[in-house]
Amino acid sequence: MPTSSRKSLAPVDPRRLRLNDPDGSSGTLLGMRCLNCEVCVFGEAIFCQACSSDNLESVDLSSCGILYSYTIVRVPPDGWPGPVPYVLGEVELPEGPHVLAEVIDIDHADLQVGLEVRLALEPVQAGESGPTLMVYKWAPSAVPPALPQEG
Ligand SMILES: [Zn+2]
Repeated sequence: MPTSSRKSLAPVDPRRLRLNDPDGSSGTLLGMRCLNCEVCVFGEAIFCQACSSDNLESVDLSSCGILYSYTIVRVPPDGWPGPVPYVLGEVELPEGPHVLAEVIDIDHADLQVGLEVRLALEPVQAGESGPTLMVYKWAPSAVPPALPQEG
């Protein structure tokens, strides 16, 4: 069994996120797909919410999606470690599941339903001396091209 004296990063929820690098810079969202009706969900499931089948398989989900809806949160939940206000986005993945997470690196004026976003991982310290957890967030997948300025 490999051992390491170096403190390693952990995903915030190992049922929903797998880290692909030791430094936590990339990861994969995890889900379950129903082998009976093909419906896909984000995270762990014991049975399919669409058809009640328990014939499920684990799948890797896409790291890009489309902003389905969003809200600007001005009163955060207790213990919220980040800046306020922040943007909470519901993102639809190509496989179908909707994933709720903070949207970062975006001006509020640029928020719009249908925006393409990509998975972005950010380290968050759990408590005063807790472990560093990698939290999944969304960021715009591309900066809109600037229009050529003609003088
Ligand atoms: Zn099903």
